[in-house]
Order: sequence, then C-alpha cells, then structure tokens
Amino acid sequence: MKVIIIGGVAGGIGTATRIKRLNEDAEVIVLEQGEYVSFANCGLPYHISKVIPNRSDLVLQTSESLSLRSGIDVRTSHRAVKIDRENKLIKIIDLKTNNEYTENYDYLVLATGAKSIKPPIDGINDPSVKYLQTIPDMDDIIKSLKGSVKKVAVIGGGFIGLEATENIIEAGHHVSLIERDSQVMTSLDPEMSQYIVEELKSHGVTLFLNQGLQKIERTKENLTLHLNDTQISADIVIMAVGVIPNSELAEDANLLLNNRKGVVVNEYLQTSDPNIYAVGDVIETYNIPLKSKGMIPLAAPATKQARIVAENICGGKKIYKGVNPTAICKMFSIVAGSTGATEKQLQESKYHKVYVHPSNHPSYYPNSSQMHIKLIYDESGIVLGAQIVGKEGVDKRIDIFALAVRNQISVYDLSEQDFAYAPPFGAPRDPVHVASFVAINQLEGLTDPVFDLNILDSLILDVRESDEVSLFAIKDSVHIPLGELRERFVELDSSKNIIIICASGLRSYLAERILKQKNYKVYNYSGGTLCLKMKDLIL
Ligand code: FAD
Repeated sequence: MKVIIIGGVAGGIGTATRIKRLNEDAEVIVLEQGEYVSFANCGLPYHISKVIPNRSDLVLQTSESLSLRSGIDVRTSHRAVKIDRENKLIKIIDLKTNNEYTENYDYLVLATGAKSIKPPIDGINDPSVKYLQTIPDMDDIIKSLKGSVKKVAVIGGGFIGLEATENIIEAGHHVSLIERDSQVMTSLDPEMSQYIVEELKSHGVTLFLNQGLQKIERTKENLTLHLNDTQISADIVIMAVGVIPNSELAEDANLLLNNRKGVVVNEYLQTSDPNIYAVGDVIETYNIPLKSKGMIPLAAPATKQARIVAENICGGKKIYKGVNPTAICKMFSIVAGSTGATEKQLQESKYHKVYVHPSNHPSYYPNSSQMHIKLIYDESGIVLGAQIVGKEGVDKRIDIFALAVRNQISVYDLSEQDFAYAPPFGAPRDPVHVASFVAINQLEGLTDPVFDLNILDSLILDVRESDEVSLFAIKDSVHIPLGELRERFVELDSSKNIIIICASGLRSYLAERILKQKNYKVYNYSGGTLCLKMKDLIL
C-alpha cells in the first residue's frame, strides 16, 4: 500500500506516523512545500518574546528523525501541484531544483491546512506587512522588530492577533490592535471579551474596535493605516484576519467543496473520492453543539482526525463525530477559555445562562484568584457552552465543561461530579459546582436571574456594603446591605418588581431567597456589578 500525504504539520504528520505504526509495510510519503515539517505553529508567537527561548524547540521533528523513527519518506520543499484522480497520480515540484515528477498512490491524504487571508486592499503588498503562520514568517517578524522600539499594528483580534499582540508587547514594542468587529476574541460573547479588553489596555495596547483596515499607505517615515474613521501610523503591520483553506488542489481535482472552499468529507473523513482522505484546517467538519457543518481551524481536531484517517486507510471503519469548538488563550496575566456554543450563536434557540465569579481555590491558601464563568444550558440542564476568564485554573474548568458539552452532560450531573481537591488546587465546591448549583437553582425556581437592570419597571435593590457602594454606585437604586435586610425589608414597596444586585450575585441571591419567602416579586441580577461593569463598557 502506498500513501501520499500532502502537508507535513499537525494533520499530515499525525496521519503518517500512525499509518506506519499500524502497517509497517505501508509506503508513506509526506510532501511539504515549506522547509520545515512537524513544527509547532501554535508556539510561534512565544518565540517573538523569547518566552520560548530556543527557535529549535519549535521544530518537533525533522525529515531525518521521521525517517529514522517512523520509516516515513518526508520531502520538504516539495509541492504537490496536480492530482490525476483517474490514474491515481500526483504531480510534484521540487522547489529547490524546479524538477517536476509524478508519484502514484493507492491513497492520498490532503492535510494542506489553511492560509492567512490577505485582504485585497491598497498597500497590502508592502514589505512591512507581515503574517504569522510559518517559521520563516516568524523569523521575518523578529528581524523586522530588531533595533529601536517599533510601532506595530496588529490587524485582527482573534487568537493569533491577540497572541501576537501579547508577545510583541512583551518584546518591548508598542502595539495598536485593530479589529473590524465590535469585540475581540469572537469565540466569547461580547461582555466576556471585555475582560480581555481591560487587560490589553492595562498593558498599553491601543485598541481600535469597529475599525476595518481600508488602505495602507507608505509615507516617508513609515506606514499610514487608513481605518474606517481614523488613521494611524505604524512601522510594521501584522495581518491576522483569519484563514482560508488551502483547497486549490482539491478544487482543481473536482473534489466536493463547501461554499467556504472547505473540502467536504464523510464520517470516515473521505472526500468525494473514496481514495482521497482529508484532515485538519482544509476540511469542513460537523460542529457538535450547533448541529451544523462549518470550518473549525484548530490544532487539536486535526490531530484526532489524523488518527482516524490512518486507521481507516489501514482497513478500519472509524467514524469522526465532529468538533466541539474549544479554545483557550493567554493574554498577559489572564486566560480566556471557551467551549461549545456562545449565546450569540444560540439566539434562535431556547437556552438559559448564569454568571458566577468563584475563586480557583480557597482564599486562605495563598494566591487564590477569581474566575468569571458564563454557563449556558438548555431547559433540561444540558450544558450547551461555557466561557471562563480568570488567572489560574481556567484550563481545568473549561475542559470539564467541554466534556459536558460533547457528551450532553447536565448541570445536575456536574453538580454531583467528584473532582480532585486539596487547597492548592481547587475547592470542595469547585467553580464547576458553583456554576452548576446556580444553574440548578434557576431551573428549580429558587432564583430568577435577570441580565438587565432596566426592565420590568423595577426597583433596584443594592445589597452591597456602604464602602462598596461609595466606590461604584448604581443609579436610582435603594441601598440596604444584606445584613440589614431582615430588619429593613418593610421599607421596600411590595407592589414593585425588585431586581437585587450585589458584587457577584451571591449576596443578591441570599437576599432574593429572603424576599421571595416574604412574597416579594424579586429577581437576581446575575453576576452582580462585576458583570454590570463589563456590560456597561460595551454600551
Ligand atoms: P497546517 O498545520 O497548516 O499544515 C498544512 C501544511 O500543508 C503547511 O505546512 C503547508 O505548507 C502544507 N501544504 C499546503 N499545500 C501544500 C501543497 N500543495 N504541497 C505540499 N505542502 C502543502 N490551534 C489551536 O488549536 N491552538 C492554538 O493555540 C493555536 N495557535 C496557533 C498559532 C499560530 C501562530 C497559528 C498559525 C496557528 C495556530 N493554531 C492553533 C491553528 C493550528 O496551528 C492549526 O489548526 C493546525 O496546524 C492545522 O493543522 P493542519 O495539518 O490542518 O494544517
């Protein structure tokens, strides 16, 4: 059996190595147009700041090590240029010699990934406009940042743009981050992304939201960037506005593509030609929580797809069920994670949500920190999605919620789940439990969360302490600290709807329970002033 794999990074090398583990006799050739195979593209931003000090650490394997360890024929600087499906042949160019040749195959795997979008605007071909996708791209950025402090404009507030921003700031330069949308990191809902905005600003990033890049103009000194409503100058521009699949080969071979040029595959990850499989950023996948197909360009799904393709090529019948989009991003001292569906994506469906702000571990153990959780679930409590921003322990909790989303686990199940606990690591009531308890309270009618203070013609009851109110007062609210409520509740107009607020939603819940049992019509402002502040920022 002879297998040719086009693309030598996450999906391609994963497929190649597993095929050899399953079938030592298989002839496996990997064609990679770049100079490097099996490199850590996810690690590239961190070498710009030297958080990853050694460039060589980014190259996980070489052609030689893959040949010696796994018996794979890896050909770097070799580009596949045409697929002849009828004769099962592939035309290849050796980019170093320009020599053209063909190879036959029994099976072909497309692991060609995706490329950075290059918007068709004036000035986009200026040499100071850079991308961050490959090791040479990274080298180029590092070279251009050498010498004096540079003014860098990062275009795009997604993961790659954010990580580039963080690491360029850490390397001592100034960054203007430009985002066309009204928020950064669109895998979060807008109010959750505000925590990132605050963090960016506190590290000196100049942020432009709702500002598309229209034109790049070279001036005497450097570049002028024309945005929707303003102009800024920059020495270097880093474009990170998303990716499109490298599917030209597939298109040329008349394989089925979706409307975003993603290669369409079946549940065995076969393309419309059963002898051609495809994995990674180039394919369309099933989005499990949204129950729809789309492009989800992430490293972890690519590696899992690779394993399945290898098994199926070797005679298996493994099914790929799809992706639960799950992602995490570090931004200076905070971490933002997301899994499943966002509220934005669920607009048409029925769902509930709660906000909680538990600590990662008890406050009596040093360095505890708060995390902000938004949990989204359906009417039976099945978890649909979660977003968490915090300093420590976000990764652990988002992965638990990811497991819940993928396996349709409910908040009831999560509330009973046992987690490893000792003070340095968590709490007996883990943040996952806290979010689940609050969701259950809502589902069982113990609490009625609201997310807007200006509804129901309500009276707003602030149950925080006076010192908290003096720091951040809520307009037109009645102030009765929780500790005084049992004596003073009679001051409240019982004919009114009352929305109770505190700092995080806990004291307001306790007040809600008191007043509900006294037959007041009360609602809890979910997430308290911590959420209110974030929402206010986006109004
Ligand atoms: P790729 O890794 O892109 O590999 C495709 C390869 O195919 C490329 O090397 C390309 O040169 C080669 N190729 C294409 N066409 C041909 C051809 N005709 N002939 C020969 N070779 C060809 N994902 C995460 O989940 N978490 C992260 O933290 C994260 N960080 C990232 C940071 C950066 C800077 C970048 C660029 C990406 C990041 N990603 C991250 C995305 C992740 O790297 C991709 O989802 C993943 O690499 C996809 O794997 P792939 O094998 O499909 O494609």
